[in-house]
Amino acid sequence: DLSNAVMAQDENGRPLIIVRDQGQKTKLQGIEAVKSHILAAQSVADIMKTSLGPRGMDKIMVSPDGDITVTNDGATILSNMDLESQVAKLLVELSKSQDDEVGDGTTGVIVLAGALLEQALELIDRGMHPVRIANGFDAACSVAISKLEETAEEFDETDLLNAARTSLGSKVVSEHKELFAKIAVDAIMYVADLERRDVDFDLIKIVSKTGGSMGDSALIHGVLVDKEMSHPQMPREVTDAKIAILTCPFEPPKPKTKHRLDLASPEEFKQLQQYEKDTFKKMITDLKDAGANFVVCQWGFDDEANHLLLQNNLPALRWVGGPEIELLAMATNARIVPRFEDLSASKLGHATSIKEISFGTTSEKMVTVLADPEKGPKTVSILVRGSNEMIVEEAKRALHDALCVVRNLVRDRRVVYGGGAAEISAALAVSEKADSEAGIEQYAFRAFSKALDAVPLTLAENSGLNAIETLANLKSQQTLSKKANLGVDCLFTGSNDMREQFVVDPFNGKRAQLLLATQLSRMILKISTVIEAGKPQN
Ligand code: ADP
Repeated sequence: DLSNAVMAQDENGRPLIIVRDQGQKTKLQGIEAVKSHILAAQSVADIMKTSLGPRGMDKIMVSPDGDITVTNDGATILSNMDLESQVAKLLVELSKSQDDEVGDGTTGVIVLAGALLEQALELIDRGMHPVRIANGFDAACSVAISKLEETAEEFDETDLLNAARTSLGSKVVSEHKELFAKIAVDAIMYVADLERRDVDFDLIKIVSKTGGSMGDSALIHGVLVDKEMSHPQMPREVTDAKIAILTCPFEPPKPKTKHRLDLASPEEFKQLQQYEKDTFKKMITDLKDAGANFVVCQWGFDDEANHLLLQNNLPALRWVGGPEIELLAMATNARIVPRFEDLSASKLGHATSIKEISFGTTSEKMVTVLADPEKGPKTVSILVRGSNEMIVEEAKRALHDALCVVRNLVRDRRVVYGGGAAEISAALAVSEKADSEAGIEQYAFRAFSKALDAVPLTLAENSGLNAIETLANLKSQQTLSKKANLGVDCLFTGSNDMREQFVVDPFNGKRAQLLLATQLSRMILKISTVIEAGKPQN
C-alpha cells in the first residue's frame, strides 16, 4: 500500500521513497492476537464437531489433484484441510499427537480443545489474563484426570471385543463391525506379548485389495503376499516349505554394459546362451542342495528361468517387496540371502504351508504363508476388502483405530465410560472443586468444567437429541446415583448405562485427550504474535 508514500531525495540526490504512518499499522498484538487465534482454532473445531460419535457425519475431501477421500477420522480430516492460519495448524499437530500416542480419539481431542478455547475467550472478555486462565486450566485438568482415575474400571479380557466394536460403530465399517472387531481382537491377541503387556504393530500387516465386499475381509495367521506363483503350472500349495529368501538377482550373471562383449559368430552367441542356462541350472541345483523347496525373490527372472524353475519343481514368487520380505523372514525364521554365494541350509526359513488363494470370480490371486507359531514370532496379516479404493482406505483407518483400542487395553486394562459419561463425571468433579478455590482460578475451573460438557453436548447434538436437556438429565442422574457410567444414548437403545452398552474408552486415551487439549489451549493462550519468516512485518 503506497498511498502514504512520497518521493524524496537524499543528500546525494538519490531518490528514495518515504512511507508515512508505518507505525500506526500494527499487527494484532497481545490480547487481541490471542482472541483472533482462538477464533481461528475454533473454526477448525467447529468443522470437526459434526464428525464426533457413532452418529457423526463423514467428510469428503478433495485433494488439489482431484483425489477423493471419504472419512470420519479426525486426524485424516485435519491433515487434508488446507489451513491458512498457523494456529489452526497447531490443531492438526494436536490430533496427530493423539493419533501417535493413542491411535483413537482424534476427533474428541479437537472438540475438547475447541471448547476450552471458547471458554477461555469468555474469560478474556471478562478481563482475566490469558496466562492465569492457562494456569487455571492446568490445575483443573489434574482434577479431571484424578476423577477419571478414580472412576476407571479394570476391564475383562473377554470384553475386548465390545471395546473394539464401540470404536468401529461410528465408522464406515459399522455394518461389518462384528467381523472387524473380531479381526482386531484376534490379530492383537495373536501377536501380543501378554507377559510384557506389549504389542508390536510391525507384526500386523494390513493388506488391501479393492473388489468384493467388506464382509470378505479376513485375518490370516501368517504373512499375506500380494503376488502369485511365478508360473501358473506350479503347485497351488506347498506344505512343509523350506524357503530361500533371495534379495540378490536370481539369474545368471549378465554381461555388464560397461564391458565390451565381442561375439564373432552365431556359435559364440549360442555358447553364451548355453553358459547362462548352465549357470542358472547350477543356481537351482545349489538351492535344492541347500534343501530349499520354495524360493522368494525380491527381483524378477525371465520366462526361460521361470520355466526351468517349473521343470525342476522349485516353485517361486518374484518381485516381492522389501517390507514383505522382512516380514516373511521374521515369520519363517529365515535369513535373507543378499548374495547367492551365501546360500546355505541354515539360511532357509520354514513354513507349514504356502498357498495361493484366489478371490471369487476375479482372477486376482495372493499367497498366504503360514509359519509355525511355536518357532518364530507370530505375525498376522489382515486382508481388507471393499468395493472401491475410498471405502477400503476408510476401512483401513477404522481397523487401525480398533487395533489401537485393543492394544491400549492390553497395555492398560483400565477403561472409562464413553458417550460423554467420563467427561460428565470429570466436569462434575471440576465444578465441585471450583467452589473451594479461593482466587480468580475458580473461574478457570468453572470454564474447564463447561468445556468438558462439550463432548456429551456434541454427541447428543449429532444424534439429533435435545443437547442441553440430555446433558442436564445426565448430570443430575450422575450426581444422584454417583454412577460415572451414565452417558448419551446416541444409538437410542433406551439405556444411558454405558457399561451395559459396552461403550468404553481406554483410560489412557481419555487422559491423553485431556492432557493434550489442555496443553494446546495453554499454548494458544500464551501466543501473542505470529511472526512468519520471510514475510514483511506490516
Ligand atoms: P474419535 O475420533 O475421537 O474417536 P469418534 O467419532 O470415534 O471420534 O467418536 C468417539 C466418541 O463417541 C467417544 O466419546 C465415544 O465414547 C462415543 N461413542 C462411541 N460409540 C458410542 C455409542 N454407541 N453410544 C454413545 N457414545 C458412543
